[in-house]
Amino acid sequence: MPMQDLIKRLLAEIGEDPEREGLANTPKRVEQALKFLTSGYQADVDTVINNALFTVDYSEMVIVKDIDFYSLCEHHLLPFFGKCHVAYVPSNKVIGLSKIPRLVDVFSRRLQVQERLTNQIANAILEKVNPLGVAVVMEGTHLCMSMRGVEKQNSFAVTSAMLGLFRKNARTRMEFLELIRLRSGVPGSGSAADLACIADDERAGGAGTAG
Ligand code: ZN
Repeated sequence: MPMQDLIKRLLAEIGEDPEREGLANTPKRVEQALKFLTSGYQADVDTVINNALFTVDYSEMVIVKDIDFYSLCEHHLLPFFGKCHVAYVPSNKVIGLSKIPRLVDVFSRRLQVQERLTNQIANAILEKVNPLGVAVVMEGTHLCMSMRGVEKQNSFAVTSAMLGLFRKNARTRMEFLELIRLRSGVPGSGSAADLACIADDERAGGAGTAG
């Protein structure tokens, strides 16, 4: 069934009249919005990077902080969004700085859980730039929790992925965390909201955090 027909059907199922004036073009708009918000499935990491990898003699930490991200939770198809902070320590290559937010988009524009999104961004940089280490921290607000009024759940979740040097070397990790100055803690520190979106029926099993 074409997507617009499905959306029209959905409107009827929630008790609306899909024929009324305000909703006449809604199926078309929703289809366009969904295609954009999930365009990461069609994106290719190598195309995004587009050879913006440069050989350098530089081995200090590179940080791009406060990258806005918008994604959709795979349990409820509702948005979660916030800030992403990325750091890496080059071995002999750096990536064009503008490419990092674009990599974040590639993986954000899919159905996600915040833990997997965080890991995918870190692993893509590890694979393509081959640095000594990569760190990614994401702070997200989950509308599936805040809008639905899920009780006793902080709708703000922090996830992290620490690879290579950032995992092995506490000083490198602390330097990064100090430089991004989180609003709350990081997973494992005991102070963070450590649960991203979890479906009601999965609460018993729990969704672990990355890192
Ligand atoms: Zn959700």
